[in-house]
Amino acid sequence: MRYIDPHMHMVSRTTDDYQRMALAGCVALTEPAFWAGFDRSSAQGFFDYFRQLTEYEPKRAAQYGIKHYTWLCINPKEAEDPVFAKEVIALIPQFLNQPNVLGIGEIGLNKNSRNEMTILEAQIDLAAKHSQLILVHTPHLEDKLKGTRLIMDAIAAHGRIEPGRVLIDHVEEHTVKPVLDRGYWAGMTLYPDTKCTPQRAADIFETYGNERMWINSAGDWGSSDPLAVPKCHQELLRRGHPAAFVEQVSFGNPVKFLSQSPRFKPPA
Ligand SMILES: [Zn+2]
Repeated sequence: MRYIDPHMHMVSRTTDDYQRMALAGCVALTEPAFWAGFDRSSAQGFFDYFRQLTEYEPKRAAQYGIKHYTWLCINPKEAEDPVFAKEVIALIPQFLNQPNVLGIGEIGLNKNSRNEMTILEAQIDLAAKHSQLILVHTPHLEDKLKGTRLIMDAIAAHGRIEPGRVLIDHVEEHTVKPVLDRGYWAGMTLYPDTKCTPQRAADIFETYGNERMWINSAGDWGSSDPLAVPKCHQELLRRGHPAAFVEQVSFGNPVKFLSQSPRFKPPA
């Protein structure tokens, strides 16, 4: 079954992963800018990273027939120094017209600190100024519910961001409902041991339906499974959900959300 994995960090993955994903039916993916497993020592490090995301990675993906899109930002893990973070934010506008850039992301909170919030607000404003979609990272573990609420409040307080143009990622059982209730899209990140497993994601779909929701594998620099999305499809089909249900989760919904960016071209 063809599918889109809307959240992967392919700069940390091998060409074998691209090949296996293509074999499993992946036709497009989107790669948010994030922590790369280490703190970068200068804004120039981000400049090079943004070039990698907009110039090099799309070519690597194309070799396997996968369309590569990206989101740009400074992530909350490296946003504790506001002067440094603002230097990085100043680099972003020059990349926003690159053909594979869909918006600002993954922005959000990690430890829910004051400095993280300042930089989150600056990047919400950047997205508003340039009419960009937003992809949101929510904190993990005990900070998740509080952080998710703080992020939604910050977006609402800005006043010029339409919730339907924001996807809030890494939702879990206790955060999916508040996210959907406030009009945002919700993403579930499937991990082998932490966050959502394919089974938990299937349970969440059975509780809340599949409108304004997608699933992703996060495939990154740590323990993660680039084939988590097709594994969740198998779980949904095994439970008797029709193929059209699965197709909506991993193709129809991503196409609908991402098509709000003029740079997204739905796969034929
Ligand atoms: Zn991520």
